[in-house]
Amino acid sequence: IPDEFTKAASVLKEIHAHGFEAYFVGGSVRDALLKQPIHDVDIATSAYPEEIKQIFHRTIDVGIDHGTVLVLDGEEQYEITTFRTESAYQDFRRPDKVTFVRSLKEDLKRRDFTINALAMGVEGEIIDLFDGMTDLKRQIIRAVGNPKERFHEDALRMMRGLRFASQLNFTIEANTLFAIEEFHPLLAKISVERIAVEFIKLLLGRNRRTALLPFIETECYQYCPGLKKYGEALFNFSDLPNKQIELENQAWTLLIKTMGLKESEIRSFLKSWKQSNQMIHEVQQLIYGLNKRLLGDLQVMDLFDLGLDAALSIEKLLFYYGQKSKLEEVEERYLCLPIHDRKQLAVTGNDLLDYFDKKPGKWLGDMIEILETAVVKGQIINDKETLIAYAKDKIDEE
Ligand code: ATP
Ligand code: MG
Repeated sequence: IPDEFTKAASVLKEIHAHGFEAYFVGGSVRDALLKQPIHDVDIATSAYPEEIKQIFHRTIDVGIDHGTVLVLDGEEQYEITTFRTESAYQDFRRPDKVTFVRSLKEDLKRRDFTINALAMGVEGEIIDLFDGMTDLKRQIIRAVGNPKERFHEDALRMMRGLRFASQLNFTIEANTLFAIEEFHPLLAKISVERIAVEFIKLLLGRNRRTALLPFIETECYQYCPGLKKYGEALFNFSDLPNKQIELENQAWTLLIKTMGLKESEIRSFLKSWKQSNQMIHEVQQLIYGLNKRLLGDLQVMDLFDLGLDAALSIEKLLFYYGQKSKLEEVEERYLCLPIHDRKQLAVTGNDLLDYFDKKPGKWLGDMIEILETAVVKGQIINDKETLIAYAKDKIDEE
């Protein structure tokens, strides 16, 4: 039993002492059995939320309508969710109504895949009602019960199945895959935000190719923003060297480059995926830098503009294009830049205003930029007198 569970055992025992059942459930049980790192330990119980709040002193209501209470235990915190069933999925997405029940079996039945429907007791005993252990061993993603019904209830499960295939390098079981093929248009009912969470996990998974091929073949991609016309590009994307991608901005970069989007199309593509302006900016920088880097070494000005993280990220992305990265060399070159930030320039805008008898205006920003470029390129040293003299020359030239 992994440490995380040993630590949490006292919480289960406390619930037992009050006459209720409690088990570890969900991803943590699956990952522990696969001997993979565990993110959060989720607990399911027959106790109702109010009962949990009476048992533990330090609790936070995080999703009481869904039956979830956060219990604080020393440094740790656990999401404790009441056994529940879900009913009346009217529009192919999350249930209208959750009903608390006292039976573990009912709770496990509503879970998406057999490998996610395992429960573990306090002594490490496994409750396996749907042959999840066999599927774990055979490395199979199989819906709990009838896959068609399950995807009708909540179409997001199709994307979840694909992302688990990528993360775990598992195969999607035939009937489950047929059901995805048949019902993929139901993804139209699911919010982009929820699809994006799963799609990004798919892209960052250990074996994205395992998931991208069925993602393409079942035509799920047709119901993802901005991908409709890019079946072939997605196929090419799946054909990139199958090394795990480290960061989300790198995943978008590689995808967009393979799609061959124009610079002007990047923003609207990422907006259609509801990505933040920060993410859009990062991806634009990576694509710009990567395109240049594929043609040769980056200029010092590019290194300065990109910053060290993006510059190193670009080096790592070269791998996917069969080129060698020069991580140490780039870091060395970056660290040797005379300045790393405009704030380090030896003059400020105010200094220039004081010295030159001119009104503030566009010239000022332009001049700062000229000085910055000259310093970064090593054409002049970063010292106040030198910079002022250089600025004076430039102004006199006009
Ligand atoms: P991760 O490691 O990515 O967190 P996870 O399996 O824990 O993977 P979560 O999204 O955290 O995934 O969900 C926790 C558990 O809740 C799942 O293991 C599954 O049993 C259940 N679950 C989550 N989403 C659904 C869904 N849409 N339909 C049915 N069951 C679900
Ligand atoms: Mg989880």
